[in-house]
Amino acid sequence: MTDLEERRAAVAELDAGVSACRACALGSARTRAVPGEGPVDAEIMFIGEAPGYYEDQQGRPFVGAAGQFLEQLLASISLERTDVFIANIIKCRPPGNRDPLPEEIGACSGWLSRQLAIVRPKLIVTLGRYSLARFLPGTPISKVHGQARKVNGPSTLRQSSGQAGSGQAVWVVPMYHPAAALHQGSLRRTIEDDFRKIPALLEQARREPEPSEAQPALAVAGAPAAAQMKLF
Ligand code: URA
Repeated sequence: MTDLEERRAAVAELDAGVSACRACALGSARTRAVPGEGPVDAEIMFIGEAPGYYEDQQGRPFVGAAGQFLEQLLASISLERTDVFIANIIKCRPPGNRDPLPEEIGACSGWLSRQLAIVRPKLIVTLGRYSLARFLPGTPISKVHGQARKVNGPSTLRQSSGQAGSGQAVWVVPMYHPAAALHQGSLRRTIEDDFRKIPALLEQARREPEPSEAQPALAVAGAPAAAQMKLF
């Protein structure tokens, strides 16, 4: 099997695992689980919060109003949703779209870790505060949105390809959640401006050596101490 075939098989296995998961009560309440979707070798991974009503119905991430706005934002930088991987912090809809509970986030955390290990994105875009909290805990979105930080990755990042991991770093760019920005004029302009930075940030990430050649991760100058820790 080629590397790509192995990664596709790993994602298919993961999707089946998510669909059968009962690690928290949301597993019994959902209509469909929403593992996430996109190319297994996507350079950019967008990570939202949790499925809403339409996502729960369709089993796909970001297909409601926030998803339409996300697609507009992607189009503004000449991308389509099929160019990127889209996932969420939790894979099942909380009843009434309430905020995810800490125990639900904890129970679901391994799925996202595995998605990150398989896809190995060059750039992670966090959408909203729950996604930001996974990578930069305790950091207010108002202070860091649109700014790339280098965050250490899991030592298992290369596991799916059989290569030893080095805990190498990955660029994380926090953004407001599209659902929050959609109806608020100032936040909408902010997320539109932040999205316009993505192509240059991706270029910067592309210029770095492949993980297998990379030095053990170092956070960029000015990044908070939290960025030095293993956070996902
Ligand atoms: N909001 C999210 O955070 N994720 C989705 O999949 C849909 C809406």
